[in-house]
Amino acid sequence: NADQAMYHAKEEGRGNFQYFSSERNLEALYHLRLEAELRKAIERDEFELHYQPQVDILKGDKLIGMEALLRWRHHEDGLVRTDIFIKVAESCGLIVDIDRWVLRQACLQGVIWSQSYDEIFKLSVNISAVHFRQADFIEGVKKILAETGLDPHLLGFEITEGVLMKELDTAKEHLRELRVLGIEVAIDDFGTGYSSLAYLRHFDVDTLKIDRSFLVDIATNEADQAIASSIIELARNLKLNVVAEGVETKEQLEQIFSRGCYVIQGYYFSKPLIFR
Ligand code: C2E
Ligand code: MG
Ligand code: MG
Ligand code: MG
Repeated sequence: NADQAMYHAKEEGRGNFQYFSSERNLEALYHLRLEAELRKAIERDEFELHYQPQVDILKGDKLIGMEALLRWRHHEDGLVRTDIFIKVAESCGLIVDIDRWVLRQACLQGVIWSQSYDEIFKLSVNISAVHFRQADFIEGVKKILAETGLDPHLLGFEITEGVLMKELDTAKEHLRELRVLGIEVAIDDFGTGYSSLAYLRHFDVDTLKIDRSFLVDIATNEADQAIASSIIELARNLKLNVVAEGVETKEQLEQIFSRGCYVIQGYYFSKPLIFR
């Protein structure tokens, strides 16, 4: 159909200089279409959550957490890339409803897990900056906790550095209220923001997640090795937990382990999994 033709045209035009301006137009159209379709995705029940394990290698690869990762299975187009539709959802404000849907589903899954397993592990949920800054963010979280009955101590939020750069007072206040509730907070994609490290002093967080981009070439790239070492040392000095995301190979695991990071998330242990 026409929409799909547009999508394919965009794919073919990629990287082709003479199509630059028409590619820009197609991209804008593609985003508009994504936005229109995203508005219907919840009621069409097209979202699903996958969960990726986080393991502690010092405790014999013990499962200590699961990160909820959103998937959108469009009825015609199939799976849409998460990073792409999340950006669109952020730019048009739909992200707040989407994040809340994710949080509710994850909490319901968490209740099932906490009833079926003795071993306790943390459920991590990504929270968009747009959502985190909302005046009623904490209220929304409390409402979902009350509705689902999940123990907040089983819950962790992942936010990016960007969240903490704008509207400092709101961010601080929301972090404080999350701590009161017992919800842990991790800084996701750590090291990729534009921020100076000094900002960390202002914020009461629990965990730094080393971004996957530093892991990709860590076996051979000395700069990436130095960055990983610095983040791990920073976490240790600030008494924060540190997690490496995107570990795919044994070499990457050894690099990260030898530098003192023992909690790992990545394809080496498991891709995100579906439970239903
Ligand atoms: P993120 O929170 O940093 O999540 C980690 C991403 O890395 C996930 O991509 C995961 O599937 C991928 N990944 C994990 N291990 C490996 C590995 O070993 N190799 C490779 N190549 N990739 C790995 P995904 O699921 O496509 O999500 C992309 C981003 O979209 C997330 O990055 C997060 O920022 C955002 N996102 C996902 N779900 C949600 C959500 O429910 N709400 C919000 N606001 N954002 C979400
Ligand atoms: Mg994350
Ligand atoms: Mg991340
Ligand atoms: Mg990342």
